[in-house]
Amino acid sequence: MSVRVRFAPSPTGFLHLGSARTALFNWLYARHTGGKFVLRVEDTDKQRSKKEFLDDILNDLKWMGIDWDEGPFFQSERFDLYKQMAEDILAKGLAYREGEAIIFRVEKGRKIKVDDLVHGEIVVSTDEIKDQVLMKSDGSPAYNFACVVDDADLKITHIIRGDDHISNTPKQIMFYEALGVKPPKFAHIPLMMGKDGAKLSKRHCGVAVSEYKNQGFLPEALDNYLLLLGWQPEDGREMISLKGIVEEFDVVNINKVQVRFDRDKLKWLNGEYIRAKSAGDIYLLLKRQLENSGIELEGVDEEKLKKIIGLYQVRIKTLTEFIELTDYFFKDDYEVDEKGKRKYIDKEENKENLKLVLSELKNIDNFSREKIEEVYRTLADKNSLKPANIIHPTRMAISGKTKGAGLFEVMELLGKETVLKRIEKAI
Ligand code: GLU
Repeated sequence: MSVRVRFAPSPTGFLHLGSARTALFNWLYARHTGGKFVLRVEDTDKQRSKKEFLDDILNDLKWMGIDWDEGPFFQSERFDLYKQMAEDILAKGLAYREGEAIIFRVEKGRKIKVDDLVHGEIVVSTDEIKDQVLMKSDGSPAYNFACVVDDADLKITHIIRGDDHISNTPKQIMFYEALGVKPPKFAHIPLMMGKDGAKLSKRHCGVAVSEYKNQGFLPEALDNYLLLLGWQPEDGREMISLKGIVEEFDVVNINKVQVRFDRDKLKWLNGEYIRAKSAGDIYLLLKRQLENSGIELEGVDEEKLKKIIGLYQVRIKTLTEFIELTDYFFKDDYEVDEKGKRKYIDKEENKENLKLVLSELKNIDNFSREKIEEVYRTLADKNSLKPANIIHPTRMAISGKTKGAGLFEVMELLGKETVLKRIEKAI
């Protein structure tokens, strides 16, 4: 029997990192087994479900490299099916009516067993479960019932979902029995917590996939990190790609313990991916990022942009960091670090030093890295200055920052005219 899994988002909000991880595990399992990955939209709550949310969720999935083989199927279009199934159960004498609603009668004194692929056997007594609504009086299905009708109808073989649904599973198993359908296998994956061990929420960091996308994270880094949180390859390597682990991955190896989301670790990993990008790829990504941030690239040719990228590719951990660190290449009203300015520009001695620098730089014809460096060295020697006393003020004057790529390379790239203009302004 070939594997069929599904991802079942509710379009009532953005795609949460936890759901994205669930989607990844389902996708991987489908690809690992050569099965099918089905997309189902749980939009029975017509008030809260919005097309915009769905569009965003689907875009985010695609961005992460997750594609689906069937669907999306919409629960909102299947109310007749739920009603008919509920009436079948009613006809079997396993449910009763309460006004317009149909209620499932839970037989007391039974043990329901769930053979969970991650947690092992879970046993729940039906004495702890009260009668369950199948259809509400407004004609809409209860969540657990719609879920079972669809999973049965779509012939889902494995349900891989978050631990927060464990308590639903015994109820759902009773519905399968009532429908006369063999239940699928279940794998509940431990939830992702914040760094402090509490449920991952906005308080910790961004929890929407789209935030990471907008903040300049790469999809391969996010995929990699979400996967590592919950599943590790045998050899312990940390850089893994979705496609690269299709063969190795298996649901039964998913960790049983809760994991903690660490944004810094993700950022580190993202930096590794950025560094590993070819010059051509990173050029395209950063060019798009610049354009999306509304930066004017008119006066910047491809060669120059590639040089700027070359200076910064090793220094950035996200694509947006590139924008923050290199704004001074693209505009004159770049961000200025005020504290740095007070330290390196505002003091009288710094201004004096900058005046010295300026008069020397003016005389350079070939404004190259080597030549500029030579000028600085000679200047420091001649005036018994520490190189730092002319280097830091210069960097501050031309970039508004206290740190950055090698100063002389930066100066060459900015060009003589801009450098002189900015130093003059600083003085
Ligand atoms: N719509 C549910 C959720 O997003 C799906 C639950 C399930 O996978 O059964 O949590």
